[in-house]
Amino acid sequence: MSDDPTVETPPTEDPRRDGGRTVKSLVLLNTGDGKGKSTAAFGVMIRGLAQGWKVAVLQFVKSGDWQVGEEKIGRRLGVDWQSLGEGFTWDSDDLTHDQAVARAAWDTAKAVIEAGEHRLVILDELTYLLTWGWIETEPVLEAIAGRPDHVNIVITGRDAPQALIDIADTVTEMRHVKHAYDSGIVAKKGIDY
Ligand code: ATP
Ligand code: MG
Repeated sequence: MSDDPTVETPPTEDPRRDGGRTVKSLVLLNTGDGKGKSTAAFGVMIRGLAQGWKVAVLQFVKSGDWQVGEEKIGRRLGVDWQSLGEGFTWDSDDLTHDQAVARAAWDTAKAVIEAGEHRLVILDELTYLLTWGWIETEPVLEAIAGRPDHVNIVITGRDAPQALIDIADTVTEMRHVKHAYDSGIVAKKGIDY
């Protein structure tokens, strides 16, 4: 026995509930300002692939010109991978253009969800399109709520609107405690991309 007051006794009861129900699919949301939202989504991607699921990854905001490692390996594992944010200008003078790109991106995502060909659809960085007012929240909620039974969805991005939090089954907020970037360290290959 430790006399360290911070040491806790391990649980002696099984924390799992009896009589839980099963569902055909779930909606996961990874939000918050800390690192790990997309990488956690790609962890789920690996789990889905391990079950033989067809998986789609739709990225709404492309990470610059980086050769993103997860895309390379995802494609190799048969993931249908689409970068839908490539048309953004990131120029506030051209809002109409960016909004049109965002709407087209969402239309693609909606079609993928509705088609039901994938057991897992990852909507990476979707929340930004909502936050920036480029697409409406309501149609997104409708598409998620009305998805085919077997389609699991993972959404990532900071500042998820409350309505999205409400509709998701599992919501995790990654909290920024500390990031290498804060001390001037640039993004690291293999860790950040
Ligand atoms: P990751 O893709 O590493 O899981 P994320 O999806 O949680 O990160 P994003 O907001 O999508 O975070 O940011 C993508 C990039 O920005 C990553 O390279 C990540 O390391 C970096 N990043 C994430 N959180 C922070 C932060 N709080 N401060 C600075 N950089 C961050
Ligand atoms: Mg991310």
